[in-house]
Amino acid sequence: MLPFLDLKGINQQYKQELMQAFERVLDSGWYIMGKELSTFEQRFAQFCGTKHCIGVANGLDALILVMRAWKELGLLHEGDEVLVPSNTYIASVLAITENDLVPVFVEPDPSTFNITAMGIKEKITDKTKVILPVHLYGQLCNMADIKELALKNNLLVLEDCAQAHGAMLDSIVAGNWGNAAGFSFYPGKNIGALGDAGAITTNDDRLAETLLALRNYGSHKKYENLYAGVNSRLDELQAAILSVKLPSIEAEIKKRREIANFYLNNIKNPLIKLPRVVSEEMHVWHLFVITCLQREALVKHLTDLNIQTLIHYPIPPHKQNAYKEYEHLSLPVAEEIHRTVLSIPMGPTLTLEDAKVVTDAINSFSL
Ligand SMILES: *Cc1c(COP(=O)(O)O)cnc(C)c1O
Repeated sequence: MLPFLDLKGINQQYKQELMQAFERVLDSGWYIMGKELSTFEQRFAQFCGTKHCIGVANGLDALILVMRAWKELGLLHEGDEVLVPSNTYIASVLAITENDLVPVFVEPDPSTFNITAMGIKEKITDKTKVILPVHLYGQLCNMADIKELALKNNLLVLEDCAQAHGAMLDSIVAGNWGNAAGFSFYPGKNIGALGDAGAITTNDDRLAETLLALRNYGSHKKYENLYAGVNSRLDELQAAILSVKLPSIEAEIKKRREIANFYLNNIKNPLIKLPRVVSEEMHVWHLFVITCLQREALVKHLTDLNIQTLIHYPIPPHKQNAYKEYEHLSLPVAEEIHRTVLSIPMGPTLTLEDAKVVTDAINSFSL
């Protein structure tokens, strides 16, 4: 079986350095909030071009804590509206409802799967306070337009960068466009820990200070608590692992782009729609997502040819059992996307020979 993503193979590339990192942390005798975390935070901030990086336990917490901090700072209040894509992974929406804020779903451009300034504009009301763009599948939203719209309407921007480490537009990297950004280092993400991990980036000093306290029980100073915070820390071991993997991100993105370009140039089947790339630097190909009206038959065809595929995602947030209150909404673009998308093998260890096998299999699909 050609796997959808060879996680083991990806991490084996760094085995020696990972073992050294493990030994370093083990021997240090210090496992939470130490040198490994501050080193990684500095390096990741530098990678994104931001002033601050705050490590947290996972990507969902990164998004939750930014909005929680805005509430503590008086910039957001219960019931305020947050504009979010109708076709995102549920974590983006959970972060909103966890803060007693109201998600307002914006339909995406079906060719890029991302929301646009035009779509966002239609949904702005008196209660709108935040735009939460998701750089879905690794392609940056058109942040120049979104930022301009946000400035005009006095809205905060929280980027969901969980799938877009290193994506760029006008030399500005994902995570440095909004007022803040949330990253995930879940093992399958483009920079993956060996467990859960996440981070927040921002250029806002006050926000950074609030987040540093919130992630650590709301404490800015040992045994003094400014807020009723949470325990959401990025531990030393995961930070050390991430420091091993971060320097290779550019090389890994390059490999993902080679595979993507092969697919884009060679998949030719009238039953398949390929994703639209706005510009090469904007896309880091976390996922290569095609659409097909006969998805079930295509999955069967590829499985029969020993090719593993996945669906990101089969059910849109407003149709989840968790969100019955939004079930009545009519969001036809999202619903069509969730009905037709299919993710084909993509990753930094996939070879062009593998990509050719996948391409030939897709090209041989017929009804
Ligand atoms: C993975 C992901 C998250 C959540 O990250 P975790 O680290 O798994 O909590 C949030 N948003 C998007 C778009 C994601 O893909």
